[in-house]
Amino acid sequence: MLFTAVIPCYNEVENVEDIYNEIMKNEEYLRSREIETEILYIDDGSKDGTPDKVKELAARDSRVHLISFSRNFGKEAGIFAGLENAKGDYVALMDADLQDPPSLLPQMFDEILDNGYDCVATRRVSRKGEPVIRSMFARLFYRIMRKISKTDIVDGARDYRLMSRSMVDAIVSMREYNRFSKGIFGWVGFKTKWLEFENVERRKGETKWSFWGLFKYSLEGIMGFSTAPLAMASVLGIVFTIIAFFAIIFIIVKTLVFGDPTSGWPSMACIIIFMGGIQLFCVGILGQYLSKVYVEVKERPIYIVRERL
Ligand code: UDP
Ligand code: MG
Repeated sequence: MLFTAVIPCYNEVENVEDIYNEIMKNEEYLRSREIETEILYIDDGSKDGTPDKVKELAARDSRVHLISFSRNFGKEAGIFAGLENAKGDYVALMDADLQDPPSLLPQMFDEILDNGYDCVATRRVSRKGEPVIRSMFARLFYRIMRKISKTDIVDGARDYRLMSRSMVDAIVSMREYNRFSKGIFGWVGFKTKWLEFENVERRKGETKWSFWGLFKYSLEGIMGFSTAPLAMASVLGIVFTIIAFFAIIFIIVKTLVFGDPTSGWPSMACIIIFMGGIQLFCVGILGQYLSKVYVEVKERPIYIVRERL
């Protein structure tokens, strides 16, 4: 049987060899389970010589493979390309920066081979070493997601996971352009075992995710796996209609009882501005979903390959 480790890399030249060495440390264990190993690097348009480093490795070891993108398509595209091209009966996804410890692999294989799981996923129980604000917003995001989405999205879940062929096929069959893997993993289901580990800090290089990048990614998650914002627009509409109904009755009664003094245009102006704001906000939500639909119907490829090895 074959095991493919998929590694999306964007400017990870310092880590390419380290992660190779760490994965190959499990070789003895994998051999004892009659499993061959291969590593598939996905170079996501790196500008720092990452593909050359991978080629160097591949010249020494034929079990190393490379797919190079024509430009930076983002980690989600890298994950998709890796899963689509992996030949293994078991496929693991891991970051190049060694934040996903390859030393967990034997334990993960034990769960799949001995205990009948289809997938072993990991979550970190701490976020030590991460900026406080970033952790705070991450927690908030997961809390909101759990409330508004039917799909199970686990707090602290990493993309690091080992999957059986059937699960990989299921994920690859989901060809949406706006991808949010953490949601997709939950959506396809399968018997999943969760392993927990303490956060490991990136070994070399810098994080590729800015705060703004993560924020946009979280909106991707919300819009990809929940229609709650659309429902919220309808609820707001109903609430304000009810308020307006009572306000009308109040004004009619007041006019009949006390006459009609023509005052109160400042309050009128406030109400108009307020309602205008709410309406634009709701149209904006609609627009966001519409723009996602627009991108989906174009059916552009999720990634473009420049070179394959
Ligand atoms: N990555 C990628 N394309 C991108 C950004 C990141 O393939 O556009 C890869 C990156 O090389 C790394 C993984 O995704 O292997 C996780 O990125 P990073 O460690 O920067 O994220 P963090 O761990 O800080 O969330
Ligand atoms: Mg990282």
